[in-house]
Amino acid sequence: MKILENIPLNDKTWFETGGAARYYAEPDSIEDYKLALEFADEKKNCNVFLLGCGANILISDDGFNGLVIKSANTNCEIISSADENNTLVRAGGGTGIQDFIDFSLDNNLIGFEEFSGIPGTIGGAVFINIHYFEFLLSQFLVSARVINKKTHEINEVFCDWFDFGYDRSKLHNNEWILYDAVFKLKKVGNIETAFARGRSVEIIRHRENKYPTERTCGSFFQNFSPDEINDNKQIHIAYYLDKLGIKGELSVGGAMVSHMHANMIVNTGTATSSDIINLAIKMQELVRKEYGIVPKPECQLVGFKSGVME
Ligand SMILES: Cc1cc2nc3c(=O)[nH]c(=O)nc-3n(C[C@H](O)[C@H](O)[C@H](O)COP(=O)(O)OP(=O)(O)OC[C@H]3O[C@@H](n4cnc5c(N)ncnc54)[C@H](O)[C@@H]3O)c2cc1C
Repeated sequence: MKILENIPLNDKTWFETGGAARYYAEPDSIEDYKLALEFADEKKNCNVFLLGCGANILISDDGFNGLVIKSANTNCEIISSADENNTLVRAGGGTGIQDFIDFSLDNNLIGFEEFSGIPGTIGGAVFINIHYFEFLLSQFLVSARVINKKTHEINEVFCDWFDFGYDRSKLHNNEWILYDAVFKLKKVGNIETAFARGRSVEIIRHRENKYPTERTCGSFFQNFSPDEINDNKQIHIAYYLDKLGIKGELSVGGAMVSHMHANMIVNTGTATSSDIINLAIKMQELVRKEYGIVPKPECQLVGFKSGVME
């Protein structure tokens, strides 16, 4: 595995904006991860950032002055029967979410197709505990192997360890890398698998009509928790943004609120990451002024000065 220097990141994120990585590596084995972490240790004060598909991040126009690790571990394998009706399946942290769904369906295993069409890798999905309607990734995760960024030790951990919540997992403390994860999926026959495949296609079709599918990070802000909303009735941030009438209207430079969804910012083709941040700050201000509550970003901000946004 080579450690590369000054690698542009704009072609590695969904927003297609941002500067370069000072150092860049794509490890696919535990040994390669350790080599990459040792390299960062030797450089002193070299921060390490884990990159998946870049579907939920915004990279600063100044780039990332450290080591970006993009997981290349894309192995999927059936491990064993969990019980009479379920099977355990392992997926590498760099596996695409849709690739994992396809692998599962090819093996008559269902459940994960509820996440069809969500862009990202298993690493990014565990990080944020991906969700779609009532389904959360944590309902399927059994265990995982994680690598400690400081000590380089590899631990096998179980679902409780992740302390999953809405948009949250223990990976947010920035100390751990998800190497791979084991999921429990339902073993079914050919007819039920065919129904699940149909459902997967239908979910993707539905999503394509509802959300922008390029140059965006999906939802920019998180929904509120019930104790954050004061006297307002709704926890969904899109409800407030929609009422402000900014959909397809509010823009900064080349960044615009999508005409399809009020909580999604799109790069119309010429946006910089600064345009996107400045638009997000405007949206935050409008919600604060009108409703007295402040939305927090779900999108991970990478390489920005701390405090760039509340
Ligand atoms: C069009 C669109 C629609 C979307 N719809 C949904 C949706 O319906 N539901 C939903 O939940 N999300 C949705 N998202 C958000 C996004 O798809 C998810 O957050 C996804 O999990 C991001 O995965 P990624 O691999 O691209 O992660 P990245 O964006 O690359 O990274 C996100 C975070 O995960 C961390 N990370 C990545 N890999 C690892 C690893 N191996 N170990 C430790 N940390 C890691 C990164 O450091 C970063 O902090 C959508 C995004 C887009 C663009």
